[in-house]
Parts: sequence; C-alpha cells; structure tokens
Amino acid sequence: MAEKKRTVTMDKLVNLCKARGIIFPGSEIYGGMGNTWDYGPVGVEIKNNIKRAWWKRFVQESDNSFGVDAAILMNSRVWEASGHTTSFSDPKMDCKECKSRHRADNLIEAHSKGKVNPDLMTNEEMEAYINEHHVTCPICGKFNWTGIRTFNLMFETSRGVTDESQNKIYLRPETAQGEFVNFMNVQRTTRAKVPFGIAQVGKAFRNEITPGNFIFRTIEFEQMEHQWFCKEGTDGKYYEEFKEKAWQFLMDLGFDKEHLRFKDHDKLAHYAKQACDIQYDFPMGWSELNGIHNRTNYDLSRHQEFSGKTMQYIDPVTNEKYIPYVIEYSIGADRLMLAVLSEAYDEETLQDGEVRNVLHLHPVLAAYKAAVLPLQKNLSEKAQEIYKKLCKRFPVTYDVAGSIGKRYRRQDEIGTPFCITIDFDTLEDNTVTVRDRDSMEQIRINADELAAYIEKYLEF
Ligand code: ATP
Repeated sequence: MAEKKRTVTMDKLVNLCKARGIIFPGSEIYGGMGNTWDYGPVGVEIKNNIKRAWWKRFVQESDNSFGVDAAILMNSRVWEASGHTTSFSDPKMDCKECKSRHRADNLIEAHSKGKVNPDLMTNEEMEAYINEHHVTCPICGKFNWTGIRTFNLMFETSRGVTDESQNKIYLRPETAQGEFVNFMNVQRTTRAKVPFGIAQVGKAFRNEITPGNFIFRTIEFEQMEHQWFCKEGTDGKYYEEFKEKAWQFLMDLGFDKEHLRFKDHDKLAHYAKQACDIQYDFPMGWSELNGIHNRTNYDLSRHQEFSGKTMQYIDPVTNEKYIPYVIEYSIGADRLMLAVLSEAYDEETLQDGEVRNVLHLHPVLAAYKAAVLPLQKNLSEKAQEIYKKLCKRFPVTYDVAGSIGKRYRRQDEIGTPFCITIDFDTLEDNTVTVRDRDSMEQIRINADELAAYIEKYLEF
C-alpha cells in the first residue's frame, strides 16, 4: 500500500478509538485526567496481542532469553545507582503570563522546525537561544519566561504511615532496572551462559511536562524492554543484530518500510557507546518508536558499586571474570499500539462511492479473529453453536444487530479479519460464508473447517 495516500489523522484515530471501544479518555465521567487513557474491550485485546507478539519473538523464540516481572516499587537506592534521582530530568520553563509549563528543548525544536538540535545544548545555551530568537509561548503568544529549571520526571510517593524523606519511594520510570537488579538471580537459576537476555513487559511512570499526542506520550505507560548481556568486544556485533531484529519485528507486523527509519543519537549519554532510535511517521510527524542502546557495563557496574553485591560473570570455560556489556532494546507498548493503529487505518472509497473505514491489522494483532453473524435472529442456535466452538480456539465476536452491511462495517472498523455469515443453507449443508476484511471477497466453506482456515492466518 506504499503508493496509496494515507488518510489517517490523529483526530480520526482518537474518534474511532472512542467510538469503537478501543481507547477512552481516562476518568472521563469526572472530566478526564490529563493524558491518561483507558483501553476498552477491543483495545485491551489489541494491546495484549502486541505484547504477546513481542514476547513470542524476543523471549519464546530466542535461544537464550528469559523473562522477569519485577516490582514497580523498588528500593530507592536502585534509582540512585541508575542515576535517575540526579539526572532524569527535563529543562522546564514557565510562561509568566499564562502560567503554562513547557520544555525548553521542545520550544527550540518547534521554533527551528527541527533544524536546531537542543540535545546538543546546555541549559544556558537553550536559554540564550530562546531569548535571542524571541521564542514566544505557544499557548498565549507572549514572551515572558522564567529561567530554565530542571524538573525530575520520577513520580514520588512515600512508604509507611509517616511522610518522612527516608520513606520516599518512586514509581519506576522504566522497567530496565528490574532486569539489571535480577541479573545474578536469572543467571544462577537458568545457568545461562553469556551472551543471554532478560526481558520484561510492564508499567512505567513519568511525570512528563508536555504529554500529549494521544497515547504517544503519557504519564503512565507500558514498556517492553530486552537487555542482552554480552562480553565486551562482541557488543558492536550484537548492537547491529538488535537493530536488525527490532526492524524485522515491525516488518513482520506489516509496517511499510517507507514509514520507518533509523535515527542515530547526535549526543550519547555518558555511559552509552552507541544509540539509535527507530522512528515512525506518526500522524503528527516522525518520532521515536523505540530505542536501541549499547549501554556498556555501566548499569551492572553501578549496581555492584551501590549494592556491594558482585555483578561479575564467571566464564565456565575460561574462568574469566567480567561484568557484561548490555545491548538494550526498548519499545513502548502504547506507542507501538499508536503506530500499529496509524499504519492500519484506512478510508477506502468503494466502487459505489461509499467510504468504508477499515483497520488493516495483522490478524495476529486483531482483537477478534472472526465475527459470527447470523443473517436472521432465528438462525441464532446454529450461529451460537459455531461461535462457541471457535471461541475455544481464538477470540471471536458475535453480532446480530442491524443489516449485514452495517455489521460488516463495524467489524472492518475494528479490524476483524473474517466475517462468518450463517444463513439458511447452513442448516442444510453446514456451510458458511467467510468474508475477507481486506479484499471483501467471500467464499463458502464447511463450518467444520473454519478454525483451521482462520488459524493459517494467525502464524507470526
Ligand atoms: P522520548 O524521547 O520520546 O521521551 P525516551 O528516549 O525518553 O523517549 P526511553 O527512555 O528510551 O524513551 O524509553 C523507551 C521507549 O519507551 C520509547 O522508545 C517509547 O516507545 C516508550 N516511552 C518512553 N516514554 C514514554 C511515554 N511518556 N509515553 C509512552 N511511551 C513512552
């Protein structure tokens, strides 16, 4: 579909998601809660499928990768060791006129239309740029800024009944530390030999100053992170391998390669040796979808230093002791969901001039793999029998309400790959009509062959 004009916009996606039970604004009946979103009945299925596909690819099918599910609340020393308490911050500026809060780097990026890279600037340089170029507030249009202050993105809470500083704990801002602190536990219990991987899927929280763009940047989100522990010297090879694997995963989900690109980081974190993102052409423009970083042995070394516990791996053949290097591959489940929806969304003008909205989701990601649609209510008994049988194999939905044409459209809008129509012939010869979402072609097959027919499309 590369040559076809894309019809997706963020507004259209938000509206479709709300109307079809994919994603609702968080706490909506109380007027919402800035940039929190709730997944509805269809959305939770799609998101679970995204997480399952990722886990299958990076844990189940990997020769030497293992999963963990670490606690969200971790000992505060973890965040001292990782550097988050001191340096996980954004440069914020407040508009003294309208009191809105902004990230200085975002102001510069928007003002220079992406030509100036604020990642390469110090806070002083950013402040100087904003003053020299008279960058005004995007909300009220005035030029009356406070200076830049750094703002830590971690959400704090306190443990126990007293609100004393020593009880301060944090909601984790990334899942990766759960993998690092369990490095020795996993290695010991699996007897894994380096190189091996530890993966985790779970919630992370960031007090983002400028959240937005639907589920692109939220204050609560899920990450899918994979740390590959390897020997120094092999790190460059594995960095390239993970770039390739991350790209291939997106290709296999059906992404158009014209909508993806690698972007090397211009400025590396002090511990990083190599770092790049895969960017996606989202409805609001090119932005980071996932990151791949060569983190050296920084994380494990810091945890060894702060915990006093060894993080050294002993090679069982050579007896050599060393702290492994880490290649990190990290992708947000919600951000991938936004990319998947943006990629799948289509408005097709049919031959009769009617426009149909359709989500061309990979069947493995679709919420329901099929919809069972009895042509008339008095066919319900047979339709229910077929529906119940299929439900044991994969998620299926059932719809009796409205004309068959309307029911097809509803399924197209949520990306159900197959519609199964039960008619009076079904009672006679046990055959059903199967309609393909993308081609809209229909075939007639025996109801007993349905599960096997559909399962062919669910391989990933
Ligand atoms: P960004 O530059 O967009 O803030 P980041 O470089 O801080 O992202 P990482 O810390 O590398 O992101 O996190 C890894 C991945 O987690 C990102 O590539 C993205 O997919 C996801 N992610 C990070 N922050 C958020 C957020 N606030 N909301 C949703 N997903 C996020």
